Formats: sequence, structure tokens, C-alpha cells
Amino acid sequence: MVDVRLGVLQARMRRMGMGEEECHSDNYLMSEDASLVVMEFGMNPIVDEERSFDIYPDPPEADSSALPLRPPVVTIMGHVDHGKTTLLDSLRHTSVASGEAGGITQHIGAFSVPLASLVNSESLSEGGVKSITFLDTPGHAAFTGMRARGASVTDIVVLVVAADDGVMPQTKEVLELVKKSGVGLVVAINKCDKPGVDFERVKGALGAEQIHLEKDGGDVPSVKVSGLKGQGLDTLVETLGVLAEVRDLRASVEGRGEGWVLESRVERGRGNSATILVTRGTLHVGSVIIAGTTWCKIRQMLDDKNKPIKSAPPGTPVNITGWKDLPLAGDKILQPYDYGVGKGNKGEDEVKRAVANRIRDKERKALMNDVEVINEKRRIERERQVEEEARHEAIKAEGGDVSAAIRSEERRLKREEEERGKKELRLIVRADVSGTVEAVVGALEGIGNNEVGVKIIHTDVGDVSDSDIAMAEASDATIIGFSVKAPRSIETLASSKNIPLHTESVIYRLIELVRTKVAGLLPPIV
Ligand code: GDP
Repeated sequence: MVDVRLGVLQARMRRMGMGEEECHSDNYLMSEDASLVVMEFGMNPIVDEERSFDIYPDPPEADSSALPLRPPVVTIMGHVDHGKTTLLDSLRHTSVASGEAGGITQHIGAFSVPLASLVNSESLSEGGVKSITFLDTPGHAAFTGMRARGASVTDIVVLVVAADDGVMPQTKEVLELVKKSGVGLVVAINKCDKPGVDFERVKGALGAEQIHLEKDGGDVPSVKVSGLKGQGLDTLVETLGVLAEVRDLRASVEGRGEGWVLESRVERGRGNSATILVTRGTLHVGSVIIAGTTWCKIRQMLDDKNKPIKSAPPGTPVNITGWKDLPLAGDKILQPYDYGVGKGNKGEDEVKRAVANRIRDKERKALMNDVEVINEKRRIERERQVEEEARHEAIKAEGGDVSAAIRSEERRLKREEEERGKKELRLIVRADVSGTVEAVVGALEGIGNNEVGVKIIHTDVGDVSDSDIAMAEASDATIIGFSVKAPRSIETLASSKNIPLHTESVIYRLIELVRTKVAGLLPPIV
């Protein structure tokens, strides 16, 4: 360990022609540079590859109360058909209507609604929350899918409950998720335009789930809305703004950018693109960022109205191009340096090294995982052998025929193996964007019971291709395309090879389809 004063180090590095900007107290020195410096001091460098370079987020601020409030990130959840999509459409429409004339929304995975577009500006507090960021994928598959990858994006869940239907199974599931994850909750009682709806019944059913509404002295804010007619949207966004202020959601707009990948896709003419939700700092065109095992020098940023923007502060959903490879939904975005506008090319070497480091790390983990699996298999096999020997000894002791017992055991094992193989519906899943892939996989993986189930063998973004057909043929799998097309030639190829291929754009229909197929694997009841 060499302990050197910064001034001495700077002087040495200048002499070595390394430039002073390489050497700040808050910079990392690359192992090559550090080695040179160590040699300058007449010592032998030993590079510890185990601790090789990666990019780390800034530590949390000691005092966050001085930071500006940031927009809350809201996910709309609830039972099927209770109106999540309709509500999202209305809110998205509001955000477009309040923007420039002719603005069209791009589905980029999230959009922001400025409070001023719905709420009287006088009732907005100075320095308060200015806008709400809505995640554009309804349903809890999206929420749990991101969370499973460690991305805690959502601050507040809007639980949509149709006034004419009340609390249903998925409503209860959402409440469980909210309780477990500790996110904020606003109940939107939807379809209020329908004549004769009984609010008391809805409230009673919510009460039975320990959800007591603020209006009745409880602690959960609620709003009556009609997603279809656009009623109550102003109160909804205002309520979300108030809850965000209560939860004191703050983030620094300065410093290195951080965020999450919401979804990614390959776009004609734009190449690899990904929607990022910035959670801290500000991203600029030209900034260098890393996500998972890929990186990007930001070439272009488009906002949710498809408008090019130069910088993206916290709470902004922004579509970014310039990725070397496609990042994945749920990947964390980090930035090695904050060099501001126009100086963003700094940091390319760092991200390249970090990417190489991460790939190496991933490979090592995969290898270790393989070794663990092999060891576990060996352990089970050893146990089986010991049991088998004991059984054979017992048969011998009783004067029985050991080789007949072995033969019958082999037959039984073969039968069991064949049955096990039959009971899995193997799937290849394709979807339009990686966020949707996550959501679809999340929704399908749980289908089945201990006898039959789903096994996702491959996932990808984009239209169904002939490589899917080849893979399905080799592994006896079914191809599922969600919100993507299967070209006519591919359909013909699939049917000529008897490969099941389904395209669907409604998630619950897809779930039903897969459920039916999985149920078909159950042995007949005799
Ligand atoms: P999701 O499955 O929760 O996304 O539900 P959808 O948004 O697809 O809505 C399901 C059905 O309810 C559709 O036929 C909608 O037109 C209808 N719907 C949604 N919101 C409202 C509403 O506020 N009022 C009425 N009357 N119908 C609604």
C-alpha cells in the first residue's frame, strides 16, 4: 500500500506527462496509471484483478432536506378490466394536450404529466412537485418484473378499483405488494360515470382489506375518477403531488447521473435505443453512461412527446440512443464523470473497462453457478448410491434377487424421467421492447402447479425470426410473440414444421392461452 500526498502525486504525474486532470482526490486511477506511478516511486506494482475497476454511484447525501423535490414515479395497478389502460390513456392525452400543438406521444415506457396542465396554478405550492411521472405499462407484472431485478422505480401505486366491481383477486394482490414494498398508495375508484354505482360497498370491501380511506378518517388517500370521461384526473394528480411532498421525494439535480432502464429496443434509423428514468443528477447529450454490460455516449435524447432535449434532470423519462449494445429493462444507469454539457466524451475508457470487468464477473459467476449445480447433482447422486447400496444389502440379506431389483428400478426411473419431461411447456418469448419481455415472462412464469408448469427457454426483443423456429424445433418449444409480428414466411415455416406459434397483444388473453396449454399437460383423470 503506497500512501502519497496528493500534491506529490500530482507533481510526479505531471512529470510523467499524465496530465493533472487525471489526478483529483475524487477520481479513480486506472490500474495501468496507478502501476506507472508506483514504479515511479521505485516499487513493484501488484495489480489485484479481483478488485478491478467498476463504476459506483455517489453515496447518498448526508442532508437531503436541502435538495429539490423530484417528480414521483407512479405505477397504475389493479384488477383486469378495472380501467388501468383507459386511465393511462386519458392521463397521457392530458400531457400531450398541454404540450405543444401537434404533439404526439411515443410509447417510451413512461410519460410525465405537468401538474399545471390540470390543476389551477394558484393552488400549486412554490417549490412543490411540478409534475408526475407515470410508468406506461399497467399491471403488476411490470412492477414485480422490475423489482425482481432490483430496480425500485415506483414511489407510488395508484390502485384502480372499478366502482361497479369492487375488490377483486388482483386488487388484493396489489395491496399485498404495496404492503410488502412500502411504496405509497392512492386508491382511484374508477368508472364513477356509471349510473347507480355503490361507493359504500366498495369502501366496505376495501375496509375488509384494512384499507381505510382518508375521507372516512383513515390514512389512504382516494379519488373518484372516470378514466373514460376524464373526470377526477385533476384531483388524482393533485393528490399524487401532495403524497409525493409528504413522502419528501428529493434528488440532487447536480452531479453524476443515475437512473434505471425502463425498456429498450432496436429502432429503424435510430439503432439501439433505451428509455431511461433519471433518478439523480442530470444527463446531457454527449454524456457517457453505463448500464449492465453495455455503455453509451448519448447521441440523442427524446422526451415522451418525441421532442429532442439536451438535458434530463431527475424524474424525466427519456429515450436515449448511442448504445453499443441493447441494455435490459431494470439495468441501473451510472455515469463515471459529470463533465456537463459538451464535455461528455470524458469517461469512455472507464466505462469500457467497467463493461469488460462486468462481463468477466458475470462469466465467473455463471461458472461458479455451474460448479455449484454440478456439485449439488454429485451430492444427490452420492446419496442415491448410498441408499441404493443399503437397499441391495437388505435384499441380499433376505435372500432376494438383486439384479431383478436393479432392472425394475431402472424401468421406474426411465418412466419417471419421461413423465417429468412431458410436464413442462417450454416457451420462447418475443416482445416489442425489453420492458414488455420482462412483464410477459413475469406473468407466464408463475403458471402451473407442482405437476405441470412453464419453462421459458429463451427471450428476445423484436419480431419472431427463423432463429426462433430453429430453437423451437430443437427444444420442442412453443413460440409466443407479444405485441410483435410473425412474418408470413415465418408462420408458414412454423406450420410446416408443426411448431406452435402464437402472437397476442392482450396480456390476459395470452395468460389464458398458456394456462390452457399447461392444463393440457396434466395427466388425464382416471
Ligand atoms: P384494464 O384491463 O384495467 O387496463 O382495463 P381497460 O382500461 O382496458 O378497461 C376495461 C373496460 O372498461 C373497457 O371497455 C373500458 O372502456 C371500460 N372503462 C374503463 N374506464 C372506464 C370508466 O371510467 N367508465 C366506464 N364507463 N368504462 C370504463
